[in-house]
Amino acid sequence: MHDNPVALVTGANQGIGFQIAKELTHKGFTVLLGSRNLERGETAAREIGPGAVAIQLDVTDQASVTTAAERVRQEFGRLDVLIQNAAISTTADQMPTPEEYLRAHRPSVAPLAEMRAVWDTNVFGVLSVYQAMLPILRDTPNSRIVNVSSGAGSLTLVSDPNSPIRSFFDATYAASKAAMNALTVAMAIELEAEGIKVNAVSPGYTKTKLNGFDGTDTLEEGAAEAVRVALLGSEGPTGTFTHATMGTIPW
Ligand code: NAP
Repeated sequence: MHDNPVALVTGANQGIGFQIAKELTHKGFTVLLGSRNLERGETAAREIGPGAVAIQLDVTDQASVTTAAERVRQEFGRLDVLIQNAAISTTADQMPTPEEYLRAHRPSVAPLAEMRAVWDTNVFGVLSVYQAMLPILRDTPNSRIVNVSSGAGSLTLVSDPNSPIRSFFDATYAASKAAMNALTVAMAIELEAEGIKVNAVSPGYTKTKLNGFDGTDTLEEGAAEAVRVALLGSEGPTGTFTHATMGTIPW
């Protein structure tokens, strides 16, 4: 078994996932940077330095997920932290403006093929990686899962007529995060008796490719809550949904 604790971050070749990987490496983890394009993952791992290892992982490709799980088992023999970070908001080459996106993804007009692709990554991909990695998490004492969600997926917040994020609740991306939240609760319930913690975090509106770099927060701010929750000990909570400065977010 590998000496250092091991974390796997999906979608870690750029953005918030990259920052999470970098910070966990500095905390003494061996961090596996999941990347659907291995070369981009290797470039990112080199940038972080020792302790960062690229691993090919396309969360929508079952063979890739299975192979990645086999590699984690054989090469490292443990998985202390799984961070489910990979996500997309669109399949378009060029990110539309937020206004254009919201207009195009109202439930009445949301393009079903694009919505399926987004949910395949953000929802089914998350479940696929969960199922593949769970046996290794189960064999690692005090392991935990952090699902990188979004406050935009909070059904409670968007149901408040006075909420500023109500108008951002689109059928494609925001609804996929609501579905991810539902999966987080289901996973937390499933693993409660085994002591494996499953929590969702919201990074906040972070400047990344996902939003065409329209976000206002830095990568450090966006990664902060995922890193904090990843480092909570065995006494930490399960089934929570939190943001670094806003605290608990209602489901
Ligand atoms: P990003 O910069 O676009 O990064 C997304 C990452 O996911 C990339 O590494 C991307 O890989 C990867 N990815 C996409 N599809 C994948 C697949 N099928 N298999 C494996 N990896 C895949 O976006 P980000 O803002 O850092 O997003 C990280 C997380 O934060 C997401 O879960 C997002 O929903 C959440 N979030 C972000 C914000 C925000 O304001 N940015 C707000 C709330 C929540 P490629 O480089 O190959 O595309």
